[in-house]
Amino acid sequence: MTNSRLFSFEFFPPQTPEGAEKLTATRKQLALLKPEFFSVTFGAGGSTQERTVETIRQIQADGHNATPHISCVGSTREKIRTLLFTYKDMGIKRIVALRGDLPSGMASIGEFQYANELVSFIRAQTGEHFHIEVAAYPEFHPQARSPREDLANFKRKVMAGANSAITQYFYNADGYFRFIEEARKLGVTVPIVPGIMPIVNFTQLARFSDACGAEIPRWMRKTLEGYGDDSTAIRAFGLDVVTQLCEKLLAGGAPGLHFYTLNQAEPSMEIWKRLGL
Ligand code: FAD
Repeated sequence: MTNSRLFSFEFFPPQTPEGAEKLTATRKQLALLKPEFFSVTFGAGGSTQERTVETIRQIQADGHNATPHISCVGSTREKIRTLLFTYKDMGIKRIVALRGDLPSGMASIGEFQYANELVSFIRAQTGEHFHIEVAAYPEFHPQARSPREDLANFKRKVMAGANSAITQYFYNADGYFRFIEEARKLGVTVPIVPGIMPIVNFTQLARFSDACGAEIPRWMRKTLEGYGDDSTAIRAFGLDVVTQLCEKLLAGGAPGLHFYTLNQAEPSMEIWKRLGL
């Protein structure tokens, strides 16, 4: 297996000095794998904005490609413009452009309603400076009115100027391949990189999955539930299942893998090793 495909790791901006220290250690370990980029999430409504910028600065200072996420919900053109030029001036070349989800208690949707508007805005403000990534949902976005409309909305983001996409995580490779097929039929040709969520903590995974609409297949859910508090068994099972998923995706032509690391190095590194990358 060659490394010509695109591999990347996603972090969230740490909230505490201990979290920041841990992330530095995680980053150092993952840097050994020479990923294409490290991305950093952005709290919708701007809640983590400064910490995202700071984490991006640190990644860049270490000499790695840093890719900030920007979510536009609850924001204004002016704020997004300022952020874009901050990143442009820092020499950032790639951005993940998202709508985000309005935090509870935040009333105003702001000046952007959907991610395609953010992509158009980035292109209008900064031309072709940024490589723009957008989100894709092989199992469909939880608010989508229908799979057909969700695909059409995905195409809208690409037509607005996105260069590539990263998917929500999933554990069913067939859904991904079907999504690719449908997107290609619509004329979408950009690379669509699968998002990979290693399995470490079942309770947390179940909570995330319920919120974002990623299905944990029944056989996996039942097995994981059966392990109860046995975290060693959960990790071992998770590594087997997720490695097999990655193998299937790469063998089937996936253009790379994007790991949702949750700021931990070991699970992604172990999968990487098992894949023989
Ligand atoms: P959109 O593409 O705008 O889609 C949202 C919904 O609206 C979909 O149901 C879609 O079908 C519909 N829709 C889209 N456009 C239109 C239109 N023009 N007219 C009518 N309906 C439309 N969230 C964060 O807050 N911060 C992050 O850093 C972050 N990183 C992420 C990274 C990845 C790779 C992924 C997959 C998700 C990430 N998210 C993040 C979560 C994401 O913000 C949520 O899933 C959010 O609900 C949707 O964002 P989006 O950009 O996909 O929205």
